Amino acid sequence: MSIAENIQNIRSRMAAAAEKAGRDPKEILLVGASKMNDAPACREAIAAGIDALGENRVQEMTAKLAEHAYDGAPLHFIGHLQRNKVRQVVGRVELIHSAGSLELLAGIDRQAEKFQTVQNVLLEVNIGGEESKSGFAPEDLYAAAEQARSLAHVRVQGLMAIPPVERVPHGNLPFFAKVAELYVDIGRNLYDNTFIHLSMGMSDDFEDAIAAGATMVRVGSAIFGQRHYQ
Ligand SMILES: *Cc1c(COP(=O)(O)O)cnc(C)c1O
Repeated sequence: MSIAENIQNIRSRMAAAAEKAGRDPKEILLVGASKMNDAPACREAIAAGIDALGENRVQEMTAKLAEHAYDGAPLHFIGHLQRNKVRQVVGRVELIHSAGSLELLAGIDRQAEKFQTVQNVLLEVNIGGEESKSGFAPEDLYAAAEQARSLAHVRVQGLMAIPPVERVPHGNLPFFAKVAELYVDIGRNLYDNTFIHLSMGMSDDFEDAIAAGATMVRVGSAIFGQRHYQ
């Protein structure tokens, strides 16, 4: 299967999941998680109409930017972002999905001010409470979202989450539902209903994420094929 065929297939599964949930398929964006895939693969996904591409590693993204891998589609940063790499990301991407600490938010704000821009971000929620994952604990999210409002060069547009690795079919549904609840509450109570992105769901569970209310799914291997880690 080609990248274009995979995208078409995922689009129809997304549409079916949306319709089943009584939602408009057009309100759900497909972000291609293009880590470890080269510039030609990115271009193929863009030609096939992907809504955005998301990268995980700053070094890889910088190299692929130099190759014009993302021309024609919005670029997102979806991976763990170290504070000392903020300068290489702010202003270069349309959206940072992974703002998971107040220190990182402050760093993004400072850099965006220097570049005289406003950076769109999502607050990352560590919904499974996992040691190995970054993001705000669900119980800290409300206070963090409130503090983030005072940053003049950061625009919080919603939430992102990566639930624990699913062990049983539909095992992540409760996590997705919990994030969706936080998204609605915080969007309404702190952000004047301006939230527009709820980023959750990957190759193995994007249909469940859509059922729970995702507006953006991040799909890698189901588009580009299995990644081969050395
Ligand atoms: C790699 C990655 C994805 C996509 O994972 P697949 O299982 O390959 O679809 C989504 N989100 C993030 C943050 C990722 O790093």
